Amino acid sequence: MDTTRRLRTTIAGSLPKPSWLAEPNALWAPWRLDGAMLEEGKHDAVRLVVAEQEKAGIDIVTDGEQTRRHFVTSFIEGLDGVDFEHKEVVRIRNRYDAAVPVVVGPVARRHPIFVADAAFLRSTTRHAVKYTLPGPLTMVDTLLDKHYRSREKLAHAFAAILNAEAREIEAAGVDVIQFDEPAFNVYFDEVRDFALAALERAAEGLSCKTAVHICYGYGIKANNDWKQTLGNEWRQYENTFPLLARSRIDQVSLECANSHVPIDLIALLAGKDVMVGAIDVARDTVETPDEVAAVIRQALRFVPPERLYPCTNCGMVPLTRSVAAGKLRALAAGAALVRAEL
Ligand SMILES: [Zn+2]
Repeated sequence: MDTTRRLRTTIAGSLPKPSWLAEPNALWAPWRLDGAMLEEGKHDAVRLVVAEQEKAGIDIVTDGEQTRRHFVTSFIEGLDGVDFEHKEVVRIRNRYDAAVPVVVGPVARRHPIFVADAAFLRSTTRHAVKYTLPGPLTMVDTLLDKHYRSREKLAHAFAAILNAEAREIEAAGVDVIQFDEPAFNVYFDEVRDFALAALERAAEGLSCKTAVHICYGYGIKANNDWKQTLGNEWRQYENTFPLLARSRIDQVSLECANSHVPIDLIALLAGKDVMVGAIDVARDTVETPDEVAAVIRQALRFVPPERLYPCTNCGMVPLTRSVAAGKLRALAAGAALVRAEL
């Protein structure tokens, strides 16, 4: 990775899938291919989104999560101890109901889950690559646990599994491993009491960059309704950022585009790399480069340019491909505007 370049751009993770691969504009969209054709289709989709990011000018690219249906359950599907046949409905992040798998015994990883996908991503580009994994607390919050009966014990069990997976993903040549922890914006006591420790356990011993993505979620109705209840100033990050600043995690993301997050909360992350969300994923309007640049300039008051990574607020999978492509270009163009001023 070229560490001298400033304002290196990246994305939170997901991008829309081609309509020949999965139903468009949907979360958890079913695949439209199967067997060997599905495997080939996933690879082709990764090639497409990597090329699209490169062409747009994104520095640290991802596979756009083209190989998985969902950012949490696709990982859990690879584990022992979880029953996917008899799902039960639970409330996720205190916000919406979903039918989720049930933990029925000790969770274990018998084989690598995303390692081959990470190696394939690495093979498609000379750019720096980031690979995303769910974080332990968000995994716990996307399941019904009938075995451990303890969110803390289950989080630590997942952390050990994630660490084994992350070490192999790192060995595949990935530059950044990011853990997605939207649940960190909801369960502040658990973050303090055990979930940050679990996150650090998941990242233990890694020498690549480690990141945590914390957000206000995809632009779906349940999240948009929740945001309406948060008032004029969103201060959720204030609970976790001081803890993260003292952690071993290298990079932290936050939502800045069109959000009500006070930008000065970035100051709580002193010493960390900050992924500044400069693209709103909850609306279809494509930002102008000037709008992106304005967010970056504000953030520069609190974080130096070599530690500032212009990014999207969250994943873009629910958007159309053309809107997502426009937003990638706007992100890179806005960063270039500010880079020229430095
Ligand atoms: Zn997110």
